[in-house]
Amino acid sequence: MASVSLTALATLLVVSSSIVSTAHAQAPAGKAPAMVVQRNGTVPSAKGPEQFFSGPVRVDMLYQPQGPTRASVGAVTFEPGSRSAWHTHPLGQALIVTAGTGWVQEEGGTKIEMRPGDVIWCPPGIKHWHGATATTGVTHLAVTEALDGKNVQWMEKVSDEQYAAR
Ligand code: MN
Repeated sequence: MASVSLTALATLLVVSSSIVSTAHAQAPAGKAPAMVVQRNGTVPSAKGPEQFFSGPVRVDMLYQPQGPTRASVGAVTFEPGSRSAWHTHPLGQALIVTAGTGWVQEEGGTKIEMRPGDVIWCPPGIKHWHGATATTGVTHLAVTEALDGKNVQWMEKVSDEQYAAR
């Protein structure tokens, strides 16, 4: 009986250590690993909520703040015609386009086309929306810092007329 338990424990230890070794980067002998590797395929994709987005939107959260850090990173993919609602960010937001072609617009401004490699900085409190063009999808990374646990203030949706306008 005791030997069975020990075998089970040994198996558990082997499994645990293999999980730890894949989840953390290699560290020098004698030093506990600090780097954490989140493997591709381990976080399910999410659907952009209908109340905040128009059309099909996929959100892949890449990094959620842990401990004292406050910046999240998500990859957001908009199908053609899809876009966010109007919104502001209390501490601003950086958008980094990784695929496709999209539009971003601040209130009172014209639509700006965004393409892979473009980096858009939206300052704190500026009302804006971002999304795909009418005919092409787009994927961008969104780097957003939270203030008091909140990183976005959602507003009304972008109407078809607003979306079609220049
Ligand atoms: Mn935004």
